[in-house]
Amino acid sequence: MIQDMISRIQKLKEAQHAVILAHNYVVPEIQDVADFVGDSLELSRKARDNNAETIIFCGVRFMGETAKLLCPQARVIMPTAAAGCPMADSCLYEGLRAWKADHPEHTLVAYVNTTAATKSLVDICVTSGNAEKIVSKLDHTKPIMFLPDRNLGANLNHRLGLNMDLWNGCCWLHNGIKVADIARAKAENPDAAVMVHLECQPEVVAMADAALSTAGMLKYVEKSNAKRFIVGTESGMLHRLEVLFPDREFIGLEPTLVCHNMKKNTLELLVDALEGRGYEITLPEDIMASAVRPIERMLEWS
Ligand code: SF4
Repeated sequence: MIQDMISRIQKLKEAQHAVILAHNYVVPEIQDVADFVGDSLELSRKARDNNAETIIFCGVRFMGETAKLLCPQARVIMPTAAAGCPMADSCLYEGLRAWKADHPEHTLVAYVNTTAATKSLVDICVTSGNAEKIVSKLDHTKPIMFLPDRNLGANLNHRLGLNMDLWNGCCWLHNGIKVADIARAKAENPDAAVMVHLECQPEVVAMADAALSTAGMLKYVEKSNAKRFIVGTESGMLHRLEVLFPDREFIGLEPTLVCHNMKKNTLELLVDALEGRGYEITLPEDIMASAVRPIERMLEWS
């Protein structure tokens, strides 16, 4: 059954000159059939650099919007319209526009986990993989608002010795990782290196050997001498790590960390998307024109 669907996906993809992009957090079956698997920054670059007529984007909506901004000539189709991101939804256009009107002196830095409309209001975007490098290059004599992830912002403030204002948003999944969860995993696996995502709370980051983006985790494992790793991020990343590093062992946290929005992308819906029943990303032209600038600035600076 699964093999039938995979064969169908391959045939439909070739017939349509489509490329399948998948985030590290989607289900393993989709990661295995995708042309590229990666984090937001890697997938943004793939969207920008490919000549595909159709991009099938398996992730959450703001990622599909980013692909559309960078690849406006392509049709960007998502398997489902229902895959959103609560962090992105915590900082929507109207709220940020009102805040900006009251704080015209601030430089606005947006984590890429924002809607296209929100991006249209900001100066520059960052991902968890390039945020430290980009924020370090900003003019620190002016006030900065970092949005929407207060944890990533606080971790950057700590690393760079800054005092950026922070929007009060977070990823519920990474914010939910507690000091006790890491302490328990370390006690049970004293030989394992601990990697956590930069969206975790600062006190959790302080307990880890490394706090990274998902792409950063891959590089960290590649260079590390450790054989076992505790992985403090969404469970889809375990599959990615196990495929790339079959000689290492990866230990997820308990309870298992599952982003239900990412898991709304299924093989069945991927087939539907390739057969014309997906959700096509469309954006107003004025939003496209304004929102692409902070993303292009990010790609130039990173
Ligand atoms: S893991 Fe967190 S930030 Fe990523 S899509 Fe899910 S809710 Fe949003």
